[in-house]
Amino acid sequence: MTAPTVNMDTTVDVIPLGGLGEFGMHMMAFRCAGTIIVVDAGIMFPDEELLGVDVIVPDIGFLLEHKSEVKAILLTHGHEDHIGAIPFVLPYLDVPVYGSSFTIELVRSKLEQHGMLKESRLHTIRAKDKLDFGPFTVEFFQVTHSIVDAFAVAITTPAGVIIHTGDFKIDPTPIDGRTFDLHTLAAYGDHGVLALFSDSTNAEHGGHTQSERTVNDRFESIFRTSKGRIVLSCFTSSIPRLQLVIDQARQFGRVVSFLGRRMVGNTEAAEELGFLKVPPGTVIRSRDIKNHPRDKVVVVAGGCQGEPLSALSRIALDTHKDVDIAPGDTVILSARMIPGNENAVGRMMDHFYRRKTELYYPDGSQPPVHVSGHASEEELKLVLSLVKPKYFTPIHGTYRQLHRHAKLAERTGAVREKVILAETGDIIRYDALGGGVVGKAPVGRVLIDEGSLEEVGEMVVRDRKHISEDGILVTIIAINKQTGAIEIAPELVFRGVGFAEEARILAEGKQMVIDTVNASSVEERGDYTVIKEKIRKDLKKFIYKQTSKRPFILPVIVEK
Ligand SMILES: [Zn+2]
Ligand SMILES: [Zn+2]
Repeated sequence: MTAPTVNMDTTVDVIPLGGLGEFGMHMMAFRCAGTIIVVDAGIMFPDEELLGVDVIVPDIGFLLEHKSEVKAILLTHGHEDHIGAIPFVLPYLDVPVYGSSFTIELVRSKLEQHGMLKESRLHTIRAKDKLDFGPFTVEFFQVTHSIVDAFAVAITTPAGVIIHTGDFKIDPTPIDGRTFDLHTLAAYGDHGVLALFSDSTNAEHGGHTQSERTVNDRFESIFRTSKGRIVLSCFTSSIPRLQLVIDQARQFGRVVSFLGRRMVGNTEAAEELGFLKVPPGTVIRSRDIKNHPRDKVVVVAGGCQGEPLSALSRIALDTHKDVDIAPGDTVILSARMIPGNENAVGRMMDHFYRRKTELYYPDGSQPPVHVSGHASEEELKLVLSLVKPKYFTPIHGTYRQLHRHAKLAERTGAVREKVILAETGDIIRYDALGGGVVGKAPVGRVLIDEGSLEEVGEMVVRDRKHISEDGILVTIIAINKQTGAIEIAPELVFRGVGFAEEARILAEGKQMVIDTVNASSVEERGDYTVIKEKIRKDLKKFIYKQTSKRPFILPVIVEK
């Protein structure tokens, strides 16, 4: 008996380059007969441990190894963990990018900001559009999620159909009325699906994820009873949520002001594309806020994750130039805390409480001020049973979430052959012998300091590479948490940076740290996340101006 022969032209490899067994940084390569297509190119947000790093992107070494084979990047939706790496990937891979109108609009503004729009080839596609890339035919179809214009992709390959859900929940009453295209999903299932890759973010949650519409009931009761100014924050891409804010503001006679570069940009783009309906006269500029009575304004600020220099963080510390906060004002945090941000958000909430504001945040009370955009168990089961895949691989989640989703899939009995529990870097192969993990691709994380963006060639640097090439500058300072006083004067220590006028740079650098601290309020000085970020930004600017060098800057605050 001879072993079955394997035809390489019908062998399909799927390689997750990020997002499986980790939080964020979604990117997945599909490879067949000398063609590679990539789904999503997202970032992971650094946590407090990684101070000095702005974003984390997937290592694309595998794609660069097979550069000539890469034909396109397909984007499922516009969240940062799916599109954020595009500006860091395109300088190395000159390929067209495809996505829905809102997704492409977000990518466009991102590239514009990095001054690299011209070189890029962006293509807007609509639901049910089909594209051919060598052996692959790709069809996009509508799903519901916390952002508008989100797609799943069905990829027809010589080995069979592969479905990648992107991020989704099944919301029967989405704010924009565009429901999950379950018919297309089921039709693929009826014809037979080789493999399903499905979102595991909420695999630990039983039941159904609540509809976006339930948030409206809570907003309505908060708006009805609020006596002062309302300050609300949510993710800047949560267009359906922002629609609810605008609707409630209209109902209760308030104007709306969007704060923060990204919040303003995203809402303008969404309005232009028809995803956000803004009645004339509703939106005012932030500098006009002071001309309206407190109880006639809703301020929508970016920074729901406690980002130290964001609009919301400034409002919490009462250092925003256009918005002050007074006892009796209402603050709504309409977002969940991304793991790693709990402390920063917690400190920000403390600042708001100290100012005697009424604070609403996701604390389990119903109706909620925030609902998830990701499917819970029952929705995941529904997708599995409609698709009935031969192979199933959970994606988008920590290993725990992937594991839970895998177990759930086994219980449904919907997977015809087997569940393949894979992690970032696993090469999953489908051929005549079956499906399974056959090897490892080079993968990893690349840490990026956005300050060095101008140098495109230097953009993708590993953290160690950054330190080894540009050196590291550590500043240590002791600050009294209660009084904000500098207890021990700052120390500057550097390695691997050659300064021409070392003594002067160090002396001026130390003085600059002192000035930054002294220019901050006592509350800011007691919030180490905030003061560290201010010191880092100022030192970075100072060192670059003085030396044209960009060392890795690490402020350390010693509590006194
Ligand atoms: Zn995501
Ligand atoms: Zn998403």
